[in-house]
Amino acid sequence: MQEHLPPWQCPKCGRGNLALDKESLRIGYSADVIAARDDPDWEPEWDRGRFSCLLVCDQPKCGDIVSMIGETVANEFRSDDDSEQFIFESLVPKSMIPGAPLMNIPPATPSAAQNAIKQSFSAFWGDRGSAANRLRISVERILDSEGIPAKTDKGAFITLAARIDLFGEKSPEYKDTLTALREVGNLGSHDGDVTREALLDTYEVYEDWLKNYVGKHGEKMKGLVKKLTDTKGKYTV
Ligand SMILES: [Zn+2]
Repeated sequence: MQEHLPPWQCPKCGRGNLALDKESLRIGYSADVIAARDDPDWEPEWDRGRFSCLLVCDQPKCGDIVSMIGETVANEFRSDDDSEQFIFESLVPKSMIPGAPLMNIPPATPSAAQNAIKQSFSAFWGDRGSAANRLRISVERILDSEGIPAKTDKGAFITLAARIDLFGEKSPEYKDTLTALREVGNLGSHDGDVTREALLDTYEVYEDWLKNYVGKHGEKMKGLVKKLTDTKGKYTV
């Protein structure tokens, strides 16, 4: 059994990492998987199981609990001289509740958008299309908070593409990332198939967008550069 987890961040405190509660780990194998172990052609890869477990934040004051379910996969490895054989069984998560953060969310992000982003962290493991769709919904919620109308005066829905265009009239430099998020979200809604790589890239560009648009990181940096230049760095606070 693989005992090492990636350094998943705690979804609650954001400071601790999640550690496996070993006593909570249960793995089961269905009857056909067990019966196949007697097959003379048996390969370790056939030994697929299902698991459930709890993860606990390693910061004692937080101690947040995450539940995880998924499948196990066994892989065979041989030593360089082929004299020894090792079988490693790995956990492949399909859902985490709540999901470990896959990007930073600035606190100033509208709470409805934050909720949709967090839902995508849970969905990421088992249903990437749904995770992409949740990100698309979070963009709708951000546009809501920006006062971009979702309906016409006559009550008809305004498409997300048209809402992003309206947003772009005010903030053209921030429009392209939202369009990219919309495209990936559409893929999730219609094809249901978004690659892991494309989705991880989406989190990366969204994090950067939120840092700059919502967190005003660029403006803060420009302000610091100006302060340093104007004072030639001669200040203490
Ligand atoms: Zn924590």
